Amino acid sequence: MKRQKGNKWSNSRINTFQTCARQYKYKYIEKDNKEEFVSISIIVGSVYHSILEYMYKDYYLKGIIPFEDIQKIFEIEWDKKLTREKSKGREIVYHDEIKDDKIYKKYTFDCIKRYYDKFYVTGIETSFDSCKTEEIVEPEFEDEKGHILSFKGFIDRYDIQDNVLTIVDYKTSRQAPKDTYLDKALKQLYLYALGIIKDERFKSVKDINIKLIYPFPGVKIERKVKKKDLEEAKGFYVNLIDLIRKEKKWIQTPGYHCKSCGFQKICPEFKYKFKLKESLDELDIKDLTNLIDQLVVLKDKSKEINKQIDNIKSTIIKNKSKFMDGDSEGRFVIPGTETGSEAVVNIEKVPKIPDSQDSMREVMIKEIIDKGLWEEIATLNSVSVNPKLKKNQYSNKLMDILRMYIYEEEEVNRITMRKIKK
Ligand code: SF4
Repeated sequence: MKRQKGNKWSNSRINTFQTCARQYKYKYIEKDNKEEFVSISIIVGSVYHSILEYMYKDYYLKGIIPFEDIQKIFEIEWDKKLTREKSKGREIVYHDEIKDDKIYKKYTFDCIKRYYDKFYVTGIETSFDSCKTEEIVEPEFEDEKGHILSFKGFIDRYDIQDNVLTIVDYKTSRQAPKDTYLDKALKQLYLYALGIIKDERFKSVKDINIKLIYPFPGVKIERKVKKKDLEEAKGFYVNLIDLIRKEKKWIQTPGYHCKSCGFQKICPEFKYKFKLKESLDELDIKDLTNLIDQLVVLKDKSKEINKQIDNIKSTIIKNKSKFMDGDSEGRFVIPGTETGSEAVVNIEKVPKIPDSQDSMREVMIKEIIDKGLWEEIATLNSVSVNPKLKKNQYSNKLMDILRMYIYEEEEVNRITMRKIKK
């Protein structure tokens, strides 16, 4: 089944916004943009769904389809989908280093075979009174201002048994998801359940279940739909649509997902790379790219220089005993020979307050806040806290708390450069 893009909201539309606002803009606002890349996983998913649709389409007329037939249809579908994308001028993008169609074809076939063997031919996924594939659902609900939000979605399959309707979604992932990824996958099905509830045809349905099937790891995840889940799903979509409506900047959020984004050639994150590749004499860009190379060289040099500075400073500190006359804290000045400058070295012992990696920091902050003393300290930045701590400049109450948490004094050194005064 070919799915048309419409004006209604959809789960994939909302997902796109969550992934990258810029991609959303290219796809759903500036509708003339052409997607020039397609991920191989779209082809994998599309062929897999077509074959499962074929397995169930006329289930009551044909019963279980022999695997040889499935295999033949699979071969045809794979070639058809691959050729169609190529004929649209879309470049197929692959994951990581695996760039061979055959490997993805085999994976798709494995998913189908595993589904067939584990869920289809065994009767696990055919024990229902009736089923329907590729069903359109159109959930509708109100946002906070009372405006109707209309959605459109496609259910891979729904089954009815004993007046219980199960919404089934097929997945091709290598592993079943956990936590937030699972929540995300379930949200979509709760949205579809909202569509089922409002549809007159399903008035007699007593309960709704949702089911995700991952044939590759052989996992099924099933939930009974509760009112609370539906309300949560509504809230989730209402909030996101509100965010989309308020969005003004549409800034791109690059990440792994860019690999399969069809809009890389127009996205500012990548477009100049493509421009340069396609036309090496784009002078405006070329000049800037030369500057970028210079910047890289300078940054590398500055890293090297900073390393040398750190080495010199640490050598000075290692030799501090020659200048400190046995004191553990103090200040001394070492002149340079030819530059007319000198180094001022300060060495002091400071009490150490628990840092951000230390779990006691939170406990200490809580105690300071609970005792109403946070306004007095206001920050735990060592530059402002340490001198006051050393000089006991906080109130007694605050000092008492701080003393309970601070560690042994530790040495802090600072080396600054200045011109030698004539
Ligand atoms: S290429 Fe990446 S950053 Fe650019 S629009 Fe696509 S997903 Fe967003």
